[in-house]
Amino acid sequence: MYDTAIIGGGASGLAAAIMAARRGKSVLLLERLPRVGKKILSTGNGRCNITNAQISPENYHGTDASFSKEALSKFPVSETMAFFASLGLPLWEGENGKLYPKSLQATSVLDLMRLELTRLGVAETVDTNIVSLSKKGDGFLLKSEDGRSFSSKNVICAFGGKAAPSMGTDGAGYSLLTKMGHKLIKPLPSLCQLKTENPMRALKGVKHEGEAAIYIDGKAVRTTKGEILFTDYGISGPPVFNLSRMASEGISTGRKVTVSLNLMPEYTEDGIFAMLRKRRQALPHLDGESFLYGMLPKLLGREVLKRAKNDRELAYLLHSFPLTVSGVMPWANAQVTAGGIDTKDVNPQTMESRLVPGLYLIGELLDVDGDCGGYNLQWAWSSAYMAANAI
Ligand SMILES: Cc1cc2nc3c(=O)[nH]c(=O)nc-3n(C[C@H](O)[C@H](O)[C@H](O)COP(=O)(O)OP(=O)(O)OC[C@H]3O[C@@H](n4cnc5c(N)ncnc54)[C@H](O)[C@@H]3O)c2cc1C
Repeated sequence: MYDTAIIGGGASGLAAAIMAARRGKSVLLLERLPRVGKKILSTGNGRCNITNAQISPENYHGTDASFSKEALSKFPVSETMAFFASLGLPLWEGENGKLYPKSLQATSVLDLMRLELTRLGVAETVDTNIVSLSKKGDGFLLKSEDGRSFSSKNVICAFGGKAAPSMGTDGAGYSLLTKMGHKLIKPLPSLCQLKTENPMRALKGVKHEGEAAIYIDGKAVRTTKGEILFTDYGISGPPVFNLSRMASEGISTGRKVTVSLNLMPEYTEDGIFAMLRKRRQALPHLDGESFLYGMLPKLLGREVLKRAKNDRELAYLLHSFPLTVSGVMPWANAQVTAGGIDTKDVNPQTMESRLVPGLYLIGELLDVDGDCGGYNLQWAWSSAYMAANAI
């Protein structure tokens, strides 16, 4: 019998396996896909944004938004850096505090984790879809879809959420835990693109630095900034991703969701108006379509000008360009899951289930989701540490 069986060989499962094995535990890692860590290879556009130098509790969300605090303070970014350094992986800081492997290759993260698992003698079995989990004596019995059985004293569930189902995460694992009494908070796609009514198809591919504010039933909920990307179905880009969990919630509860884009966040609306007036006087030959040349990408300027009857309206649109959100893109496009297993039945000091002793829950399967920028992987590392340390 193993000390610890880990269901799911993704980011949190791999980290927990290394951390538990380093503490002398015998570990069995069970992965349903033909190989572990498939999702890690896609993270950060193949570069793996491992964590962020500026982690704060405000970057994390869930029904109990404070649940992640304990793990993030016990295993902060400095510990993540030390952990990866111990594998032979130095980190490099890019824009907005995002930390990547120095090689800028996600493959090196996975390669070095796998080499460490081998060095530590962690047993790995792939093509093993765990479909049944139950208490047996003072341990657990796990069964795979193809009829194999495994037993262990403790179990770490690290099977992820519902986002990106082609990477092994289709939400099927939740039932292993709901059958044991855990409650599921409705999973919703997050860190994904938004569909808008009357999308401005001509703007497909246009990018612009700005701010995006989301309103639910007319109430401002959150403002984010960064590079907004216009698509043929709506909007995308990191600031839009960070609004998507709120949009998902709003849409799923039948509320009106709108987004207002501030295309010139460095000015107030009156400031934009004054600037436009000056521009008209100083540059009278810039009229019609050329009036906003140099201030906005040409195609975006054209769309804004088309909608404004005068400079007052133009200032308003540059400051608060309104879009009605008609939906969020599907699970296949989502990077993470908002919602998941309710954290109220999990001890934040140990990640142990309050309902089933010896059962630990980590990573994205829990009702904890982070912003775009390395925050979700940091949650995977921190929660893995808490469980591995407690066993
Ligand atoms: C395209 C993309 C890019 C991303 N980029 C970033 C980024 O740059 N930075 C960042 O912080 N976050 C990023 N994320 C989010 C991040 O990858 C996840 O939050 C993180 O991987 C979650 O870790 P996890 O271990 O909880 O689950 P996962 O990494 O999803 O792993 C779960 C594993 O469990 C396996 N599994 C599921 N059910 C079973 C079962 N019943 N039996 C056996 N095995 C099972 C799955 O096959 C999978 O391998 C990205 C996500 C996507 C989809």
